[in-house]
Amino acid sequence: MRAAVLHEQRKPLTVEDVELADPGEGEVLVRMAASGVCHSCLHAADGSWTYPNLPVVLGDEGAGVVEKLGPGVKGLSVGDHVILSWAPTCGRCRYCVTGRPVLCERRPPPGRMYDGTTRMRLNGQPVYHYGTVATFGSQTVVPQDCAIPIRKDMPLDKAALIGCSVTTGLCSVLNIAQVPAGASMAVFGTGGIGLNAIQGGEICGAYPVIAVDVNDAKLEYAKQMGATHLVNAANEDAVAAIKKITGAGVAYSFVAVGDARVAEQAFEALEPGGTCTVIGLPPTGSRISVPSSLLVGPMRVLRGSSYGGARTFADFPRLVDLYLNGKLKLDELITRRYDVSEANEAFRALAAGEVARGLIVF
Ligand SMILES: [Zn+2]
Ligand SMILES: [Zn+2]
Repeated sequence: MRAAVLHEQRKPLTVEDVELADPGEGEVLVRMAASGVCHSCLHAADGSWTYPNLPVVLGDEGAGVVEKLGPGVKGLSVGDHVILSWAPTCGRCRYCVTGRPVLCERRPPPGRMYDGTTRMRLNGQPVYHYGTVATFGSQTVVPQDCAIPIRKDMPLDKAALIGCSVTTGLCSVLNIAQVPAGASMAVFGTGGIGLNAIQGGEICGAYPVIAVDVNDAKLEYAKQMGATHLVNAANEDAVAAIKKITGAGVAYSFVAVGDARVAEQAFEALEPGGTCTVIGLPPTGSRISVPSSLLVGPMRVLRGSSYGGARTFADFPRLVDLYLNGKLKLDELITRRYDVSEANEAFRALAAGEVARGLIVF
């Protein structure tokens, strides 16, 4: 199969013919239809996150069609349309059975299947999966709990985005913060995840929904996704601007950029009793520091969100239904389409803030 391979951090990806093994016990082979280009993959490629498992096929956001079943697979058939989840869920550990599968305790080791090996090889050497999936290839093998079946009338290119950015942004608002109608909120960072946190605000009926970024082009996307107020933090103090709009600050803030200083600002922009949800992961080794006087007496909350706390088997089909019934915007997110050979250009455009989302189409 044809895949974009990262051999070394801070070096361009190269397109290679990668050998793909048959799916093992409890695994499925998926022919990819499309893959979103996610910031987390850019962080692994550009070296801002430590990423030891190299070479790797990146890509954590994709959808396709099940082509082969490994032994013992239940609940999936050849021909099923699936969205890939980068968060394997054993379904049996204490977190899985209490509704927090994102915290599953029995995850496979990073870059590998449950049995500790990879399904990809190049010149006889193992090639790692990005997390557990690998969507920058024309085919991939994943554990069955990472292949979430969806309705066949859902276009697979749009479905791909539900695999990471849409779910992470939207479910941070719906599942983690559980923003009630009429509550105020602000989203710091209007990339792929931030835009979806903003549309989560619109779906919840939040008001105002304030978008904060330093890039006017990205703020325009935010407006399209439902932001009611735009703050360019390059031109004005974001905390002061939010307090000017709301009076005391927002009830909910979301940090959709991997920057500790921005997380501190988002915390300071809260009204007393407010909750700041940090979604973006700052560079390895960062610390977020907040004044204790703002935390304890005024009872503010600072919390993390991984994958929006997704319960993938429930949330992916729910988001598909929302899209097919006109309640979820996905078409508006796709700014450019690429061939897998253009993965480096897709990363460049993402880093430059030129796109809401780039999509690799197979
Ligand atoms: Zn991602
Ligand atoms: Zn589990």
